[in-house]
Amino acid sequence: MTYKILPAATRFTPAVGDEDLKREKARARELRRSAWWKRRIAAGCCHYCGRQVGSRRLSMDHVVPLIRGGQSRRGNVVPACKACNNKKKSLLPVEWEEYLTTLAEREEA
Ligand SMILES: [Zn+2]
Repeated sequence: MTYKILPAATRFTPAVGDEDLKREKARARELRRSAWWKRRIAAGCCHYCGRQVGSRRLSMDHVVPLIRGGQSRRGNVVPACKACNNKKKSLLPVEWEEYLTTLAEREEA
């Protein structure tokens, strides 16, 4: 069996149907109730900016958005503060990458 290498532009944009979205959203709800997630947010830290905002102000963010074929599973969800969450939604994926890079650089400085 051979694997076709897809161009970068299409690799992360598979067709996502309504049924897929529904299923993944239901999975996200379940994941949010899990002991694993409660442990994840217990420290109250945002995965992206590292700010301590308290567990109640963290929401579940899909690293690869559901609409882009991301799934509701442990490897793809992180706790994010409201500011980061909103920022991520308003930016293009490439712009979001740039934002994360500036955060990382700020930490090093
Ligand atoms: Zn944040």
